[in-house]
Amino acid sequence: MSSEAITSFEDLGLAPEIMAAINQVGYTTPTPIQAQAIPAVMAGRDVLGIAQTGTGKTAGFTLPMINRLMKGRAKARMPRTLILEPTRELAAQVAENFDLYGQNTRLTKALLIGGVSFGDQERAIERGADVLIATPGRLLDHVERGKVMLRGVEVLVIDEADRMLDMGFIPDIERIVKLLPFTRQTLFFSATMPPEITRLSEQFLQAPQRIEVAPPSSTNKNVSQTLIEVAPMSKRAALRALFDREEVTNGIIFCNRKRDIGTLLESLQRHGYSAVSLHGDMDQHIRLKMLDEFKSGSAKYLIASDVAARGLDIPNVSHVFNFDVPSHAEDYVHRIGRTGRAGRTGAAYMLATRQDDKYVQTIEGLIKLEIPREELPGLDAAETDKPAAKGKPRRRKTDAKSDDPSPTGGNGTDNHAGRRRGLLGRNRRKTPNNKKPDATPTAEKSQNAKAEKTAPPPRKAKAQSSDAFDGNMPDFLKKQIK
Ligand code: AMP
Repeated sequence: MSSEAITSFEDLGLAPEIMAAINQVGYTTPTPIQAQAIPAVMAGRDVLGIAQTGTGKTAGFTLPMINRLMKGRAKARMPRTLILEPTRELAAQVAENFDLYGQNTRLTKALLIGGVSFGDQERAIERGADVLIATPGRLLDHVERGKVMLRGVEVLVIDEADRMLDMGFIPDIERIVKLLPFTRQTLFFSATMPPEITRLSEQFLQAPQRIEVAPPSSTNKNVSQTLIEVAPMSKRAALRALFDREEVTNGIIFCNRKRDIGTLLESLQRHGYSAVSLHGDMDQHIRLKMLDEFKSGSAKYLIASDVAARGLDIPNVSHVFNFDVPSHAEDYVHRIGRTGRAGRTGAAYMLATRQDDKYVQTIEGLIKLEIPREELPGLDAAETDKPAAKGKPRRRKTDAKSDDPSPTGGNGTDNHAGRRRGLLGRNRRKTPNNKKPDATPTAEKSQNAKAEKTAPPPRKAKAQSSDAFDGNMPDFLKKQIK
């Protein structure tokens, strides 16, 4: 049956145990990548999947892998399949998916990620793991300790290959692949296909089926995108103004620099918003705790770096806020892919200063879309342009120091309204009464509005308990936010 004709999981030939798990999880229809990848994987073919996170690609490779693994038995220290992931969180998430879809089987896994002790991981390998889910560095550590042999690997998955490239993991991956049998099945997924990734895919894959579910640069049409022009020192005030007017269920805020994550976290918490943060230098235990806080809803906002957030599967994120314009255009696509997942709607905002114009243009070139502009009264980019042009210091006392929450940045004036305008001035729209153009379906909005009305209003009152550490912030984080 051609993949176009597949509209139900029943058509895929998966084992009854897997079908039962799919029902338990509540999926009714395969996503496009699943409809195409699952038959190819089941037929034993190599696959080159060009797909963003949020497309359901994890189930696209996990379901047929489980199907295959059910036919054999695990051997001590010789895993039968290997999934390589660029980050610990992503690896942990794939492991969760594996447990979910394999819940009616007796398959075993070992999760090999850094930041946790070797002991448990070694025991899991020793017992015999059907699948290894690993980050490249930690897997090589285990190989070097002689604890794992990769000669029995029948299926290799390289997930998020472009991110592996960004993180400098390609030499590790090449080393790992040399340790695998030549005759194996390889599934290679990447959101984008820069030349280096194309080269690798040609090196690792044999006559692959190429599956592209969306152009690599495309953004999801369910996500409304808005660019807010803002003066550099007004970013935090602009963010809060957005938080206050938007119906945010939960939102991820992306920063370009780690040090800004700490500063922003402190600022938001001081203003009474329940926020946690996530970045690559955090201790694994803290990272998972942060993520749990956000997933469970006890923290409404997650401030993250690109590396830390890559691939995170957090269903129902209503908003993505780009605190900074990403300098790699692809990161914009990845960031806003955190919302509007699995057919839901979402909203993405990006705070841009005039200095960001070059990056904004690159992003717009990539996504082939001019992002609608909007200005927040009193906080737009023009505000600090004049002094800057005269070479005077642009620091606005109120905003920089006191982090004043008022949308006018604390000086109580909006005296630049109407003065116009520079590089970002295309496609601008004004939003009277601070309303954003409506991206949310009316029914959903009115439901949200009802929920807002019944919900207890005072976010300020939550300030104390909203601290992810209940006042016991670890020292390394304290240092970071200084
Ligand atoms: P992924 O792209 O693998 O990160 O998956 C994105 C999200 O889609 C996850 O929350 C999955 O649980 C969800 N998902 C995967 N497959 C389906 C499906 N067939 N129907 C509905 N949701 C799905």
